[in-house]
Amino acid sequence: MSAKITFVNCPQCNHGVEYSLSNAFRPFCSERCRLMDLGQWANEGYKIPVETNLEDLNEDSI
Ligand SMILES: [Zn+2]
Repeated sequence: MSAKITFVNCPQCNHGVEYSLSNAFRPFCSERCRLMDLGQWANEGYKIPVETNLEDLNEDSI
């Protein structure tokens, strides 16, 4: 019982999707949802400050 499969909810359609290397569109369920999410980001003009992302990266790299 060593197989460990992680499931996440697609950020776009909230559909359960396997989060693994076999899913090229993770964490999305499909290419369609991934492209839709990218389109939303572009339309909203990246409201989330970049500084927050940099802090998260620093914590992960320690
Ligand atoms: Zn989806």
